[in-house]
Amino acid sequence: MVPPNASPWESRVWRDELARAYRKPEELLSALDLPCEPELDASIERGFSTLVPRTFAAKMRPGVRADPLLRQVLPDVAERADKQGFTTDPLAEQAATVTGNLVQKYDGRALLITTPGCAVHCRYCFRRHFPYDEHRPGTLDLAMAAIEADVSLSEVILSGGDPLLLPDDALTKIIRRLDSFPHLRRLRIHTRLPIVLPQRITAQLLDLLGSCRADIVVVVHSNHAQELDDVTQRAFAALRQTGLWLLNQSVLLRGVNDTIEAQVDLQSATFAQGVLPYYLHLPDPIAGTHHFFVDEQAGQALHREMQAKLPGYLVPRLVKEIAGEPNKLIVSSKD
Ligand SMILES: *Cc1c(COP(=O)(O)O)cnc(C)c1O
Ligand code: SF4
Repeated sequence: MVPPNASPWESRVWRDELARAYRKPEELLSALDLPCEPELDASIERGFSTLVPRTFAAKMRPGVRADPLLRQVLPDVAERADKQGFTTDPLAEQAATVTGNLVQKYDGRALLITTPGCAVHCRYCFRRHFPYDEHRPGTLDLAMAAIEADVSLSEVILSGGDPLLLPDDALTKIIRRLDSFPHLRRLRIHTRLPIVLPQRITAQLLDLLGSCRADIVVVVHSNHAQELDDVTQRAFAALRQTGLWLLNQSVLLRGVNDTIEAQVDLQSATFAQGVLPYYLHLPDPIAGTHHFFVDEQAGQALHREMQAKLPGYLVPRLVKEIAGEPNKLIVSSKD
């Protein structure tokens, strides 16, 4: 059931939007009235091409090269540099793979990689080097069998890439199947689409999510208050009216959101759209992303300021992931 006050989009809108996304740095720079930078060629992308939906680019300020949204998605010559300690799989995700596209690191919850695709390519992405070819959707049946057999699981996290990039029909198959396993109490969707392509919130999607037996938690990914506007507001309102839980996780990124002002604005803006903060991730040491890196001490100092300036419920947990640990480590409590 689509709630009476929700206003989802028609299915073709997000598909069309995606087809029109910027796929070259010079297109994006030119749309923002910025001079072309010939050095931003395919060689610096390191196999991770440029992809930016126009609805996301529309929230960048024209003429501002240091815009925090632009910085997240525009390739940077710094990606070329190899830095010691920055590797392609610091989280050892490949070792934690149960079967094909099912990754389990923590008790009770497993993460299902549904699709390699994303609607945006974030330059700091921790899965930018993930060998998706070895984790093909063809192995979905195996993953489903493993989930069905493992009654110690109470939650499955749909991840990717971005699970909402799947067409509604494919997503419906996966979610209905998972919802039929009685031991799963919660289904979680990790997605950036409500932020970068809010038109993805279609009537069919609301209908699907609103009719599940399991509780549905949607964890979005917004890093900056400027990413939130009337369009994201409409998407979140529709999701909330459908009765879902909405949380936000962000990554602490140098030059994007590593100031107290940026964090206070982000947490206030997401809350105003009905989304509570969940995690603020310290960046992982991923090859090609050192220009975004913020170290743990700086992260803790910023987090202490956030605790002083924000109500407790608007302070996300500051976390980092260490391969082999039983959970994501909360690093906020130290002084
Ligand atoms: C982050 C993550 C989870 C979820 O952890 P929570 O602390 O419950 O949010 C689950 N599985 C994997 C592999 C993860 O990386
Ligand atoms: S949306 Fe998430 S998975 Fe996709 S590129 Fe951005 S950070 Fe990576």
